[in-house]
Amino acid sequence: MEDFIKRFDIFSDTVYEDIDPDLLSLEKEAVSNEVPIIRKSTQRFLRWLLMAKKPENILEIGTAVGFSSILMARFLPKAHIDTIENFEPRLIEARENFKRFKEGERITLFEGDASEVLSGFDKGYKYDFVFIDAAKGQYSDYFNKIKELIFDDAVIACDNILQEGSLLDSRFAVKRRDRTIHQRMRDFLHEVADEGEYVSTLLPIGDGLLLISKGDKNE
Ligand code: SAH
Ligand code: MG
Repeated sequence: MEDFIKRFDIFSDTVYEDIDPDLLSLEKEAVSNEVPIIRKSTQRFLRWLLMAKKPENILEIGTAVGFSSILMARFLPKAHIDTIENFEPRLIEARENFKRFKEGERITLFEGDASEVLSGFDKGYKYDFVFIDAAKGQYSDYFNKIKELIFDDAVIACDNILQEGSLLDSRFAVKRRDRTIHQRMRDFLHEVADEGEYVSTLLPIGDGLLLISKGDKNE
């Protein structure tokens, strides 16, 4: 199965054009510095999703060095992106990259712990697309805070749900130090699945992408 997904990714790389050369260099720098940026299949899926949905106010949780926010800004020339990061060395790089890619106007970087920053956001300002990609044990907290910050037709995408595939392993097969995160991610999936107001689906794209939207639009 994993072999099938790897082969699928390699095949897709041959079908679809790669990102712009300047973004490709940012991607390579990030990968060589072991910054966990979104994978190519996730980039492709986000491109499709954003082009189809055309959101205008995007919220990203987990900026790292700014790769995914710059990528999203490129796909959507009219959108504004708010993005949150708390790790100082990455904040420095992200700031530089937003300048280098001339996206400083359209991307606003919020510095601090994502849960705290979200609590401080003005509930009058709503987002129509949210990309969650920060502390993997905090997704439930992010989700619950985001509920008050989105339009009814918003889409929420959460990265790294599969945790390199370990989410699929029995909790007994998971190393002790990874058990909390394993349990939290599973609890989060069930929480979202059981949330009557929302509909969600887990896709085996990249490191696992969970898509969430409000499900009561036609009632
Ligand atoms: N979205 C980026 C990658 C993000 S990697 C891209 O694809 O280009 C996850 C980031 O979340 C890391 O840089 C990490 O420092 C940040 N992060 C982890 N915990 C956080 C927290 N509690 N608050 C804010 N950022 C956090
Ligand atoms: Mg990620």
